[in-house]
Amino acid sequence: MSAPWQSHDQRTLSCGASTPEGNSVTIRHKDEKAVPRDGASRRSPAAPGGPAIVAAVERVEVAVVGAGLIGSATARALAARGVPVLLFEQFGLGHDRGSSHGATRIFRYSHPDPCYVEMAVRAGEAWAALAADAGEELLVRTGGLDAGPGAEDCARALAECGVAHSWLTERQVLARFPGIGARPGERMLFQPDTGVCLAGRTVAALQRLARRDGAAVRAGAPVLGVEPQGDQVLLRTAACEVTARVAVVTAGPWAQGLLTGALSQVPRLTVTVQQVRYFAARDPAAPWPTLIEWPPSGLCWYAVPAVGGAPGVKVAAHVPGPAVDPGDGPFTGIDPALEDEAADYVRDRLPGLDPAGLAAETCLYTMTADEDFVLDREGPLVVGGGCSGHAFKFGPLLGEFLAGLALGHDIPVPRERFALARPALTKR
Ligand SMILES: Cc1cc2nc3c(=O)[nH]c(=O)nc-3n(C[C@H](O)[C@H](O)[C@H](O)COP(=O)(O)OP(=O)(O)OC[C@H]3O[C@@H](n4cnc5c(N)ncnc54)[C@H](O)[C@@H]3O)c2cc1C
Repeated sequence: MSAPWQSHDQRTLSCGASTPEGNSVTIRHKDEKAVPRDGASRRSPAAPGGPAIVAAVERVEVAVVGAGLIGSATARALAARGVPVLLFEQFGLGHDRGSSHGATRIFRYSHPDPCYVEMAVRAGEAWAALAADAGEELLVRTGGLDAGPGAEDCARALAECGVAHSWLTERQVLARFPGIGARPGERMLFQPDTGVCLAGRTVAALQRLARRDGAAVRAGAPVLGVEPQGDQVLLRTAACEVTARVAVVTAGPWAQGLLTGALSQVPRLTVTVQQVRYFAARDPAAPWPTLIEWPPSGLCWYAVPAVGGAPGVKVAAHVPGPAVDPGDGPFTGIDPALEDEAADYVRDRLPGLDPAGLAAETCLYTMTADEDFVLDREGPLVVGGGCSGHAFKFGPLLGEFLAGLALGHDIPVPRERFALARPALTKR
């Protein structure tokens, strides 16, 4: 049986010459519509003395805009299905100006909402498949602790979804993870399969696999505009124009700007600068779990074990930082007040770390008002974003979802929850 894109793909591929990257090419002449090199669409030259060639117009089945975690995962998923895909990145691959750089991210099943627990279960399978395909470890299972009142809600959701978990007493926490300071009489939720995603390594692996399976990856190539035109999309870069049957916009912090004018209603996204700090373990041999500190409302401090080349145990607060325009970046300035706050937290809660700290890093969040992602399609545009500081753990799964949307399939999660038109994204 042929793939859903195949008949269209054969049409687009037959109407132009191939680039070295395998995409079909047509030539745009000044004052004319695209003219395939093979002359399939026969148009006479516009100007006397021959047409002035102003840009190459490529036709691809799917264009993906943004090669962070989500775009790289989408390109890999599409390429794995044999779909011709072109992935654009405005900066260099693996750059540190967006949301996906650095050594580590938490992978956890624990969440107060069973919808996200179920997604994490599916994501766990996607991570295993990715690691097998990449031939390298990309998710290190360290076990994870959840502390504070929200841990009770997490335990309920884990139980509802049949995910392994148990409660550790203060003494059990101390015996197992001596670096974590449980308070007298406190119990913490333990989830053995929680772990750490090797962030930068994962993004690189996704790009490598996408390329292996035929994707073209173009770095240093900002997409300047996306314009739906009936059943296709025109993408403009400084070098050329590309028409795609579908464009998947995974531009992270830059998505709102790029989508303005391209959608009936552009999603309301807030970009914030986040700061993390690394601390040295006093005993390098001591085991470290991930730790999430759930305060009475929402999630706050978290710690990530030093695996995968991280300079130390990462400690940060999941509290949106100052809102910024991503176009004004890079945002590399370190706020000493936040460094002090992190050191105070370490003194209070993590006696196994040296509060002097090693280094700090910044990164961007792209927040939605309800902290749910955007996974939706409008006409020939698919949007994957609004990752709200918690999407890394779902990366390979979201890539599959977005690839599915690009191919006209539905996603196996409540569509309205992740919709572009939900009130949290449209109310001004
Ligand atoms: C400090 C911090 C800690 C986090 N911790 C965790 C965690 O522990 N667990 C977890 O699950 N998640 C965590 N996250 C969240 C996770 O890292 C993000 O949700 C995820 O990386 C988002 O990826 P993205 O691809 O949407 O965005 P990005 O990585 O920003 O990628 C978007 C890409 O699009 C490119 N782009 C934008 N516009 C254009 C254009 N016009 N043309 C071409 N390219 C363009 C950008 O340059 C960028 O490379 C954390 C995030 C931060 C910042």
